[in-house]
Amino acid sequence: MAAMRATPRHLFVPALMRPMAYANHPLPIGHGQTISQPFIVAIMTELAQPDKTARALEVGTGSGYQAAVLSKLVAEVYTVEIVPELASEAAGRLRDLGYRNVHVRAGDGYQGWPQKAPFDIIIITAAALDIPAPLIKQLAVGGRLVGPIGPSAATQDLVVAVKTAEGTIVRSSVLPVRFVPLTRSDK
Ligand code: SAH
Repeated sequence: MAAMRATPRHLFVPALMRPMAYANHPLPIGHGQTISQPFIVAIMTELAQPDKTARALEVGTGSGYQAAVLSKLVAEVYTVEIVPELASEAAGRLRDLGYRNVHVRAGDGYQGWPQKAPFDIIIITAAALDIPAPLIKQLAVGGRLVGPIGPSAATQDLVVAVKTAEGTIVRSSVLPVRFVPLTRSDK
């Protein structure tokens, strides 16, 4: 709650949307993408069980809002965005607002960020049919992955996946959600 309170959501949405920034709704951020509703950002952050020593990966930077909230609760946030314009806007915004522990990269987050792995936390903010294998690989033992898993045309399950010492994944579904699809680059 303190992290949510400390994050100025109105500065992460287009000027026209500002009056609606603190209502519990998703909002358009351009390029056909949306910033999630505050409740979903809060519950995903809580399900990730952040702590001050954690290294976190986010797939789907969008506006940078989820990364900003998470950055208050962990050591470092690495976030990947597939739309280059959104990645550079978010990087500029986070820099201007003084977020020093958020690192934005433009690219296909399906592949994670192998150079910065392993991650204690992985948050996926776009819908995938199944958990991307590279992300399971980049999750630390005992680490938690949170994201919407299921067909993008319907609702998805908000899934929490925990990596065991044996390298297997224990999954649980928390609630139905609806996210924009995780797209793939053809490169
Ligand atoms: N977390 C964002 C909202 C994300 S909306 C926020 O707080 O504002 C989902 C985002 O995922 C969109 O910006 C979309 O462009 C991005 N995305 C979709 N597929 C992706 C992929 N394969 N890799 C990285 N980002 C992706």
